[in-house]
Amino acid sequence: MTIPPRLVEVREKILKQNDLLAQSLRQKFEKSGVYVISLVSSPGSGKTKLLEKTLSWMYQKYSVAVLVGDLATDNDAIRLSSTNALVKQIITGTICHLDAQMVENALKDWDLKSLDCLFIENVGNLVCPSSYDLGEALRIVLMSVTEGEDKPLKYPTIFNTADIAVITKLDLAKAVEFDFLLAYKNIQAVRPGIKVFELSAKSGQGMDEWLEFIQKLLQKG
Ligand code: MG
Ligand code: ZN
Repeated sequence: MTIPPRLVEVREKILKQNDLLAQSLRQKFEKSGVYVISLVSSPGSGKTKLLEKTLSWMYQKYSVAVLVGDLATDNDAIRLSSTNALVKQIITGTICHLDAQMVENALKDWDLKSLDCLFIENVGNLVCPSSYDLGEALRIVLMSVTEGEDKPLKYPTIFNTADIAVITKLDLAKAVEFDFLLAYKNIQAVRPGIKVFELSAKSGQGMDEWLEFIQKLLQKG
């Protein structure tokens, strides 16, 4: 007698439901003309900091909103609200990732048609966010120089599901003797051909290229 793999089945069912909802969200985003970008990384890689700088710049030209996921606290939403963007915190409690249902719920009272761009900052976690499609047009994975060059090798799936990689905290690279060649080699090993940005939201280094890229995305979208 074989024991049915119940947990696996339940998990697969949840993921399938999530994919269906994510698909309908994606269609809704496209129809509303809002370009959706999600950010994933481990905790403390600088997602919120990068968004703060990005939103402060975008605010003058675009109508931008942010959903920010955390297990607890609305600290990040408070930080981001100073940018004048529309901000909503999703507190996930014990759940260590965002899913499409949480995104749909959070968007209920927002007029998507009035937005040009929506950022979704996922919970800091390099594992399960990779399994949950949120309906985004673009997924960005961040890794800071302080995390070490082997992050992509340890968490290949999240790098594999990302469209763009960003190496953050460039201002600390020298202090931690970050090996750029090795980092690039590791990123390309798990996700060949991915475009990589290097920047420091703190010092501003690399931010021009980044903002130009975002602007081009919105022109296309
Ligand atoms: Mg954050
Ligand atoms: Zn999770």
